[in-house]
Amino acid sequence: MLILTCPCCGVTAEETEFHGGGEAHLKREGPGSDDAAFEGYLFHRENPRGVHFERWRHVYGCGKWFHAARDTGTLEVFGTYSAQTTEPPADLLEKIRERRPGWSWREFS
Ligand SMILES: [Zn+2]
Repeated sequence: MLILTCPCCGVTAEETEFHGGGEAHLKREGPGSDDAAFEGYLFHRENPRGVHFERWRHVYGCGKWFHAARDTGTLEVFGTYSAQTTEPPADLLEKIRERRPGWSWREFS
């Protein structure tokens, strides 16, 4: 069972109290983008075995969205943080690098 802590209200609970919202930190494409960029925004998602950044919503709590970094293979949660960011906080990235030597942000694809 995945255990998450909502960074908005501080509640720690099982994943059934939350709802996953897919990959975090997607670059949104607007009406002026080309077809390939818009297709990538709509359909292409990372699916790593390992470190992944995701959007979650605290549906049975405060109702707010946040981001979580976790390992998809072990379910280890590295941390949660505000959804009002364009990339993970530096201290969280450092924590992940300590636990997964050799890993780096945006090394996938
Ligand atoms: Zn909450």
